[in-house]
Amino acid sequence: MLPIAIQDLAEKFRNFPGIGVRSSQKLALDVLQMKKVDFEALKKSLEETRQKVRFCHICGFFAQNKQEENFICDICQNNLRHNWQICLVEKPTDILSMEKSQIYRGKYHVLQKLISPLDNIFPQNTNLESLIEKRINNFIQTTFKSSSNESKKPLELILFFKAGFSGEATTAYIKETINQKGWQKYVLISRLAQGLPLYFNPETLDQATMVKALEDRKEI
Ligand SMILES: [Zn+2]
Repeated sequence: MLPIAIQDLAEKFRNFPGIGVRSSQKLALDVLQMKKVDFEALKKSLEETRQKVRFCHICGFFAQNKQEENFICDICQNNLRHNWQICLVEKPTDILSMEKSQIYRGKYHVLQKLISPLDNIFPQNTNLESLIEKRINNFIQTTFKSSSNESKKPLELILFFKAGFSGEATTAYIKETINQKGWQKYVLISRLAQGLPLYFNPETLDQATMVKALEDRKEI
């Protein structure tokens, strides 16, 4: 019934998670009926966002830099946030869920994918190497292998993965790697899943649940 161009546009919106047939059609019609000036602004904003935002080269969260290179996000740049806590998440948007707690003051590392051998996702297909070889290694070198007398606090890795096999496989791999490298005394691993609903999804957790999950985190 609707012209093909509108149906095509609706189809594009359907690619977004959580958008069904009706919502996609409504969005397409809304876009079509926008004032020209608003439409141009939307178009410009879409293009600029794609151009200016990249993944932070330290943690993998979204970053927008003034210069064209060295994209570092606001969280990594914030010196008030602790370097001795790194929360591991699967997707950059999971950071927004953790930030809902408003009590977490550490940093993050986005793995992009969780290990899942059945889906052909192995450690080298994730961002684990940059975490282990760069961030954790650097932390140990600068904190424990230097002669400074500053308090030597271990690094705490807080695992915030969705429940399920891939989260378990990733957790097991991280723990095993830390042990193999003999880093147990430098690195504590805790997980946040305690107190969370059995099949939770990081995106749907509210603030109270996040605070409780963070406060009740257990060392593993
Ligand atoms: Zn970052």
